[in-house]
Amino acid sequence: MENSVLTVAKFGGTSVANHDAMSKCAAIVAADNGIRVVVVSASAGVTNLLVELAHTAMTPQQRDGLIEQVKGIQFAILADLGQPKDVADKLDTLLMQLEELAHHEELLHQGELKDALLSLGERMSSLLFSEVLNQRGVTARNFDVRKVLRTDSEFGQAAPQLQSIADAAQSLMTPELADTVLVTQGFVGADDQGRTTTLGRGGSDFTAALLAEALHADVCQIWTDVVGVYTTDPRITAAARPLPELSFEEAAEMANFGAKVLHPATMEPALRQDIKVFVGSSREPEKGGTWIMKDCTHEPPYRAITRRKEQVMVTVKTPQMVHAQGFLQSVFTIIAKHNLSVDLVTTSEIAVSFTLDNPANSVSERLNRETLQELREFCEVEVESGYDLITVVGNNMHSAAGVSSKIFASINAFNLRMICYGANPHNMSFLVDEKTSGEVVTVLHRALFE
Ligand code: ADP
Ligand code: ASP
Ligand code: MG
Repeated sequence: MENSVLTVAKFGGTSVANHDAMSKCAAIVAADNGIRVVVVSASAGVTNLLVELAHTAMTPQQRDGLIEQVKGIQFAILADLGQPKDVADKLDTLLMQLEELAHHEELLHQGELKDALLSLGERMSSLLFSEVLNQRGVTARNFDVRKVLRTDSEFGQAAPQLQSIADAAQSLMTPELADTVLVTQGFVGADDQGRTTTLGRGGSDFTAALLAEALHADVCQIWTDVVGVYTTDPRITAAARPLPELSFEEAAEMANFGAKVLHPATMEPALRQDIKVFVGSSREPEKGGTWIMKDCTHEPPYRAITRRKEQVMVTVKTPQMVHAQGFLQSVFTIIAKHNLSVDLVTTSEIAVSFTLDNPANSVSERLNRETLQELREFCEVEVESGYDLITVVGNNMHSAAGVSSKIFASINAFNLRMICYGANPHNMSFLVDEKTSGEVVTVLHRALFE
């Protein structure tokens, strides 16, 4: 890795899961003088426990059981650090806040309390990781990201306010970077009243890219548990292989369509400021990884296959749709009002189908009763679940002959729903039954990449 380029490095949940994993990350930071800002996720498993506490009704005893699990993860790291008193005291303070929030009567009903609780995962891991760096001889300080990462007040899915972030980062972080590595929290922000917010699951990648943008960094590194971005999720097929390079657009499409290795919004700041993004494995940094940049040497028609699980397909029908004006507008006004993000849309004369994401552990429930009720007031609504969304990401697929026939020929044994191709020449998407989606990806991968 090149030195003296200003780098923001993000370490994901498995990379900071325990002391051993954190030590590998510390070695990466110590070896690269350009890394001045470190963004960490919560230790693996902690956010899931906090989400469960924040969203599920349970007995006080069950709550205590989950809190004990969180404590177990954090105390194990503290023990491996030799229980330094100042760190132990700060961790105790955070854990006291956790207990208080976890038992708060209003927790299940107030986004503000939920986000305060969810933020504690990153606040604990960043405290512990800065001590790991200090013990390794790196001058590092735990920095509260809420001083700079200003967002709106959409708890659970807050949107960043770019100008405020840039101003605060430059005045509060930049002056320290010459002699200190700042270790800060991914996923967490604060609104203009200082209330804690969060950016949505997997949001630490986005935080790293936002800080890289605000600080005019040259590089944003995403250190995770795989050696880069692969042709498809290596958990689906062992034939998946890492890609040495990707364009911003390809990576953005992949992230959008379910390549979990990058939060969907990660590429936006990188693209705006032309910041190179590197994805690699903190366990095996010597293996290199993927460089994501503006111009690649090679932009093939097929680049990767992504899968997004747990899609919900909504079909709205009205007998009056024939020549009816304003139907689509009414449907999409309701969707926009409820902040739902629609991915695929197909229309016919009397019906519109669209898909929504419905991931487990999502911070906000996407398709709620209220939305359905509003739609049902003027049309028939059918909701089907059990689908996964498969996308082939590539380049200019519309201009090469045989691109789509190759895709469809390879998977003609499977039933495809809602095929979307054409609106964007860089991808083709369709839904398949969730029970067959792994097989579909494997077969498609063989046809396109092996
Ligand atoms: P982190 O905790 O470091 O943010 P994530 O679990 O969020 O890690 O993302 C890494 C995971 O993303 C990998 O373990 C892999 O299973 C999954 N993944 C999905 N699609 C891809 C892909 N195309 N390339 C690499 N990893 C992928
Ligand atoms: N800890 C958060 C999550 O698990 C954010 C992240 O890891 O990126 O979703
Ligand atoms: Mg992630």
